[in-house]
Amino acid sequence: MGEFDLIARYFTRPVRHAALGVGDDCALLAPRAGMQLAISSDMLVEGRHFFADVEPVTLGHKALAVNLSDLAACGARPLAFTLALALPRVDEPWLAGFSRGLLALADAHGCELIGGDTTQGPLNICITVFGEVPTGQALLRSGARAGDDIYVSGTLGDARLALEALLGHVQLPAPVLAQTRQRLEQPTPRVALGMALRGIASSAMDVSDGLLGDFGHILKASGVGASIHTHETIKLIASCADTASAGASFYQNLPESLLHQCTLAGGDDYELIFTAPPHRREAVQAASTQAQTRVTRIGQVEAPPGLRLQDAQGQPVENRFASFDHFA
Ligand code: ADP
Ligand code: MG
Repeated sequence: MGEFDLIARYFTRPVRHAALGVGDDCALLAPRAGMQLAISSDMLVEGRHFFADVEPVTLGHKALAVNLSDLAACGARPLAFTLALALPRVDEPWLAGFSRGLLALADAHGCELIGGDTTQGPLNICITVFGEVPTGQALLRSGARAGDDIYVSGTLGDARLALEALLGHVQLPAPVLAQTRQRLEQPTPRVALGMALRGIASSAMDVSDGLLGDFGHILKASGVGASIHTHETIKLIASCADTASAGASFYQNLPESLLHQCTLAGGDDYELIFTAPPHRREAVQAASTQAQTRVTRIGQVEAPPGLRLQDAQGQPVENRFASFDHFA
């Protein structure tokens, strides 16, 4: 099977919204009146972002999910994406699984594949997504103000716990491994929540490299500091919060330092962290309900610069949680 047959079989679909999709030198995409295009790229490299033996269907999901998460962080609605793919060889079962996982998530968000590039080389997946947001309404990192509440969506730390288990650093009971691995390999981009927070959140970003490190970018861009409550964040490991789950008692026996490490500096969460003024608490709850995505208040923005951690009694907690940096 040659390059063009491969593209035709696995990556060509009829376009619905775009003016022109796969097959010409460029795709054509017209933003609607009053809208700005939100554009983001994310690359996944074998051995760096995923294990060589990961299921292709989950890899297809994750490659698009991490990009949709960036649109969510800006409050943008997904429109379309391009796929640049380097493949070591033509492996049809792999391609079938990968494109199935990729296009299922694309369809769920009405986000269409409009073009890309395919070459031979070490496995590497680069996606660029295009979304739309009403002009001036994109959620940015720079809008947090002293006094704002800090919120995080969904759960934190599960992906990191699964990674620790896959690397052999910790042993997890089968149901806990299955649940956390699902979060590592098939994250849920919080697209509906991001859109619902337009006009409510003062700042937002998605958590991909660890909560504290990522939130540091909001603080820097906004020129403020913050306090984070670690007795709230530690509860956000999924099974820990879910007492009905098979893993609940197991989580209670894990060392607190590991739970803090996973929730505060875990990476691969793809949740939203955002700020909003206290008088918008009801609006935040309404957005959460509308998006069917839970949100938890985890601290406050403050004028003095720096990120402070505190426990349930308001006592300081030492911050020794580094976030992920490819070149550090
Ligand atoms: P060109 O040489 O003009 O850049 P290509 O031969 O690389 O074009 O690609 C032919 C068409 O197939 C283009 O429309 C391109 O966008 C599309 N395409 C290539 N690879 C992919 C892919 N992995 N997924 C979707 N579309 C692709
Ligand atoms: Mg090309």
